[in-house]
Amino acid sequence: MKKHNFNAGPSILPREVIEKTAQAVLDFNGSGLSIMEISHRAKDFQPVVDEAVALFKELLNIPEGYSVLFLGGGASLEFCMIPFNFLEKKAAYLNTGVWAKKAMKEAKAFGEVVEVASSAEATYTYIPKDYTVPADADYFHVTTNNTIYGTELHEDLDSPVPMIADMSSDIFSRPIDVSKYICIYGGAQKNLAPAGVTFVIVKNDAVGKVSRYIPTMLNYQTHIDGGSMFNTPPVLPIYAALQTLRWIKANGGVAEMQKRAKEKADMLYAEIDRNKMFRGTVTDKADRSYMNICFVMNDEYKELEADFMKFATERGMVGIKGHRSVGGFRASCYNAMPKESVQALIDCMQEFEKLH
Ligand code: PLP
Repeated sequence: MKKHNFNAGPSILPREVIEKTAQAVLDFNGSGLSIMEISHRAKDFQPVVDEAVALFKELLNIPEGYSVLFLGGGASLEFCMIPFNFLEKKAAYLNTGVWAKKAMKEAKAFGEVVEVASSAEATYTYIPKDYTVPADADYFHVTTNNTIYGTELHEDLDSPVPMIADMSSDIFSRPIDVSKYICIYGGAQKNLAPAGVTFVIVKNDAVGKVSRYIPTMLNYQTHIDGGSMFNTPPVLPIYAALQTLRWIKANGGVAEMQKRAKEKADMLYAEIDRNKMFRGTVTDKADRSYMNICFVMNDEYKELEADFMKFATERGMVGIKGHRSVGGFRASCYNAMPKESVQALIDCMQEFEKLH
């Protein structure tokens, strides 16, 4: 039976990315060695990093003066590296979910943290809009897509101070005005690569302004200077990332990714809104994520939740269980998700409705 992979992350990758990576695992560039067996300093590997960096810059229209880094540690390590490198006195954070809160927690160890707004009281079912960012903050941190709660900023915000964004789960799903940010980071395991590599886009002249000592590995300058090769980088995930970047380019770039994402999300939200058995969890429709679509059974059908899960699983749906803090269902529709899979889930919802 065909499987439809709605996992939130690690998640679906384009089939050709998996095939090309598998080929390199067996035989990298006809060398007779696996990509897992070669030095990151091998002459054949440097072009992989160089092309990945160049494609990042091209696809996201990154201005001059920024570096693209491939590091380890996940987005979670960036939660601490960000304040280590950029927080001198005060930082502003928008609390839109678990990941934003974790980022904020780390920052508190380095200076004053202003939570400009929070939707915690409503289980993060919307993104706050009414707040002021202090003009004397070193930066304003946002999570552009809240993977767990299914809310998303569809456009770059305006801010009186430079922004920093966790784009773990929506990178490459829309054009970004990178010039508004001094740093954009994320774990790659949604729209880019298998787990194991963290991408960081950092403005070179924003680094080196804090007065504290920064341990070598946690200092962005180390990785800018080392071209992501200060220590052994995650070679295999970087190779897979390059294949995804090529795939995005060949498929029309981020504007096309955005168009497809909106089309898929519109289809599924339309069914959630139409079907008497389900409702979306996000209260402000403008905040509905295109990447993670969260929904629950309506109150009168609540006891059928496990039945629907079984029904959908039997029809090939994978990974639609909602996060434990939200419950219900979450259909993650990243770039590689085909429209046919979204339609298969919609068909499931319609068939299930007919049975009740
Ligand atoms: N930020 C967001 C928005 C996420 O969705 C996740 C993981 O799902 C993380 C951060 C944590 O990423 P990592 O597991 O790479 O540390």
